[in-house]
Amino acid sequence: MQHIIDRFISYVTVDTESDPNSDTTPSTQKQWDLANKLAVELKTIGLEDVSIDENAYIMATLPSNVEHEVPVIGFVSHFDTSPDFSGANVKPQIIENYDGGDIVLNKEQNIVLSPGYFKDLLQYKGQTLITTDGTTLLGADDKAGVTEIVTAMEYLINHPEIKHGKIRIGFTPDEEIGRGAHKFDVAKFGAEWAYTMDGSQIGELEYENFNAAGAKITFQGKSVHPGYAKGKMINSMLIANDFISQLPKNEVPEQTTGYEGFFHVTGIKGSIEETVVQLIIRDHDREKFEARKKKVQEITDSINRKFEQQFGGPIATADIKDQYFNMREKVEPVFHIVEIAEQAMKDLGITPLIKAIRGGTDGSQLSYMGLPCPNIFAGGHNFHGKYEYVPVESMQKAVDVIVRIAELTAAK
Ligand SMILES: [Zn+2]
Repeated sequence: MQHIIDRFISYVTVDTESDPNSDTTPSTQKQWDLANKLAVELKTIGLEDVSIDENAYIMATLPSNVEHEVPVIGFVSHFDTSPDFSGANVKPQIIENYDGGDIVLNKEQNIVLSPGYFKDLLQYKGQTLITTDGTTLLGADDKAGVTEIVTAMEYLINHPEIKHGKIRIGFTPDEEIGRGAHKFDVAKFGAEWAYTMDGSQIGELEYENFNAAGAKITFQGKSVHPGYAKGKMINSMLIANDFISQLPKNEVPEQTTGYEGFFHVTGIKGSIEETVVQLIIRDHDREKFEARKKKVQEITDSINRKFEQQFGGPIATADIKDQYFNMREKVEPVFHIVEIAEQAMKDLGITPLIKAIRGGTDGSQLSYMGLPCPNIFAGGHNFHGKYEYVPVESMQKAVDVIVRIAELTAAK
């Protein structure tokens, strides 16, 4: 256990915050600090074909130790941390034999991690927790995943009696800003399928995520002196308001859960002359997703019909762009890759928690790039903030799951 703690701490104490406003890859130069260190470490533990490309994507190979043909599988995680909260000067605290009570993260600032609010904590009573000092995020998302993959590869190298096929591992920058998969060379990776180790609590196994689109609806108005405006002025802000009011009231993030999709207005900016409404559209079901996009177009069209004569042309334009798709479509034809992960967990006494992600993952993009890629727990909780923590026992279990998946894939 100490080994896994030491490795994890050696990663989280390197600042790798990514930056959505940067156009480079990696988005921040400091991500190289950990990327270069990881590449050296992978060679040191004895992996082969260790490569780090010009965008800081790292790949390495654990060769097969069996004679028969085994599909090449992969494990992927990301080493950047979220720009939502500071990742500089992370000072991890280790709580041994957690007693189930409040954990004071920071005495001076009175920051407390309490099971009264974060109920999940209670399932880790008696375990070793790693927390922040209340001033930064922890970076278990996803340095727990990196730790687990490296530790599992090291374990397999040290235990040649465990039989496995060829395994590829990949570490990416910039996942937190939605670009982790963008420059991932799937052909070079050369695996038949892979798993991202990037979920939260122990047992999580995910192969469904949202279909996602973004829409920008622009409304044109006509500004006229308000004293002389009758029959002449078109206030684009009021038209935009009319548009929003025609969206289904209950189909919003704050009123939906599970497999329920939504429309989510993320921004509105306007004047009399022009108003722009930003919207995101989400649904797990592809048909319903398409229907939602159509609905946005239909409301836009109906507004145009209403004002066409007065305005002398279309008043509103909807620019709808797909963002990502549900990986289920790509995973279902090769469903054994989920079953192997499920079996691995069951063999280790872990109850699989299979649920649909209400968001996207790098794995969904990778799945559409030809690498089917379900997501497995990495063990952490409360990502992207100061209450982030990870039980060491969960990280150890994730290591065991990787090892067991390797073993099951090679079983004849
Ligand atoms: Zn992550």
